[in-house]
Amino acid sequence: MKIICIGRNYAKHIEELANERPVSPVVFLKPDSAILAKKMPFFIPAFSNDIHYEVEVLVKINKVGKHIDQKFAHKYYDEIGLGIDFTARDVQAQCKEKGLPWEKAKAFDGSAVIGNFYPKSDFNLESIQFQLLQNQMVVQDGNTNAMLWKIDELIAYVSQFFTLKKGDVIFTGTPAGVGKVSENDVLQGILEGKEAFTVKIK
Ligand code: ZN
Repeated sequence: MKIICIGRNYAKHIEELANERPVSPVVFLKPDSAILAKKMPFFIPAFSNDIHYEVEVLVKINKVGKHIDQKFAHKYYDEIGLGIDFTARDVQAQCKEKGLPWEKAKAFDGSAVIGNFYPKSDFNLESIQFQLLQNQMVVQDGNTNAMLWKIDELIAYVSQFFTLKKGDVIFTGTPAGVGKVSENDVLQGILEGKEAFTVKIK
């Protein structure tokens, strides 16, 4: 399976990192080796002094598709989840400065937290409320109604470039409030009031 991530999909997050608003979705990939095994802590890697959490709504692809029309995109997923796109912000800053790819900052081992999935019928997809708690304080509080590109638009867009396969996961971008993690932090993801994951930082 592969993980397809969307960057800069919430206007307030674009502002907080002083990024330009993109004219089309920013897309990058993580390999399956980036997945943090369930119930394992996240170990801060030695190559970064600035690991950020980014909570994101996840979409699990349920069948093969390519060049998917936006009006049929809803047939390609049944489940919605929540996860974290851990980002080595210091490494990413160096990559951006030099115009280099982001993989070292975004696709390293453990950088993809994939929490519980729930049937999409549990949600109003246009307005899914989600939060990240750091040591029981809400640090990110987002809603899919603020996405620049909605889930079905994202599926149509990315499937022009990548054949989607059953089990692939799309990270749909993070809202404002990203920040640094520290040893002994506990991160909890809440999706419409349901706990989707808990991760300890080591
Ligand atoms: Zn992200």
